[in-house]
Amino acid sequence: MAGKNKVTPTALSSINITFLGTASAQPSSTRNHSSLALRLGGDVWLFDCGEATQHQIQRSGVKMGRIKKIFITHTHGDHIFGLLPLMASIMNGAGGTVEGLEDERNHATDYREVSPLEIYGPLGTRAYIRSGLTYTHTILGAPYVVHELRFPIDPAVGDYTEMLSLATELAGQNIPEDNGIWPNIYQDSLVSVSAAPILHSVPCVGYVVTEKPVPGKMDPKQYVPHIKRTNTPMAVMSRLQQGETVTLSDGTVLHGPSRRPGRKIAILGDTYDPSPLAKLAANADILIHEATNAHLPGVDSDTKPEDSYETVEIRAKSRGHSTPQMAGAFANRVGACRLLLNHFSARYPGNDDVDEEARRMMGAIKALAAEEFRGEIICARDLMSIEVQLRALSD
Ligand SMILES: [Zn+2]
Ligand SMILES: [Zn+2]
Repeated sequence: MAGKNKVTPTALSSINITFLGTASAQPSSTRNHSSLALRLGGDVWLFDCGEATQHQIQRSGVKMGRIKKIFITHTHGDHIFGLLPLMASIMNGAGGTVEGLEDERNHATDYREVSPLEIYGPLGTRAYIRSGLTYTHTILGAPYVVHELRFPIDPAVGDYTEMLSLATELAGQNIPEDNGIWPNIYQDSLVSVSAAPILHSVPCVGYVVTEKPVPGKMDPKQYVPHIKRTNTPMAVMSRLQQGETVTLSDGTVLHGPSRRPGRKIAILGDTYDPSPLAKLAANADILIHEATNAHLPGVDSDTKPEDSYETVEIRAKSRGHSTPQMAGAFANRVGACRLLLNHFSARYPGNDDVDEEARRMMGAIKALAAEEFRGEIICARDLMSIEVQLRALSD
């Protein structure tokens, strides 16, 4: 992720999650369709891109121009309808010019020289983008590439469309499952991303972003006197910081602090059972899990008298979704540190920061998840931003 002329950084300065949309199928006045931005240092990765995501980005602190990758969990419209307009905006896309006038984007030279916007998603993501751009006459001014996570039942090759790729579409990979997961679909010196199928009404994927081990804490007092005594250049401190062992001119051996685990964030799409992702998500610092439906008697005035916790769970599962208790149980199973709930039904308002009734409802949803999970639980709100800290050293 480092720029061409910069020194490659050895750790991320920060990791931040901003929820851009937390609604399920229907948006409401307080919740937009699904999308979240993961900020890794200066880069932004989007997870899902529902309708009007670019409007939400403009209302947030997320910088559109910093978006480097987009991960799609599944191709249901509430998770992907915003992708084409977002691509048009960030890649200088628009309709062409009238006859007789040249559009300079048609003369774009070799796009293989430019790093493309990278998109990951299940089968159909590539065909959806290609046909959407074609039929809306959208010409992009920059390249993109779509890597598809292919399930065992999917064709191993091909683009799932006869339509030819556009000049701005670079050849993407079709990534087969390997022992039930998609390991390391992306990695650089700081982070890696793996994925696994999760059960929903259509093929759906959960992603796990893992930061590589980070430098340990340095106590300069342990090193500086030896370095000074032997007239060793202080630059050796940066090697020690990386955990290296250094032998000084008088034979003294200095050991840098050992590296400590980086942060792990599991971001799930819609699901009624994410079991296949459990191993990858083990001990995640953050688990983001949907909680579409909840039974809230006495709190939700629309509660049907014939409903119970069981009937609501049966209904949620039949539609491929989860209740807060199901999300809590999964967080408990994988030993997550914090559980962030999202993808709420339109009946659960997203203005609980200012509205008392909304606060009661979201508080009740949180309490249901807490029946199954003892860690911290947060019901996500649109534009809510959360810093993901490294765990304390004593952990
Ligand atoms: Zn959805
Ligand atoms: Zn869905």
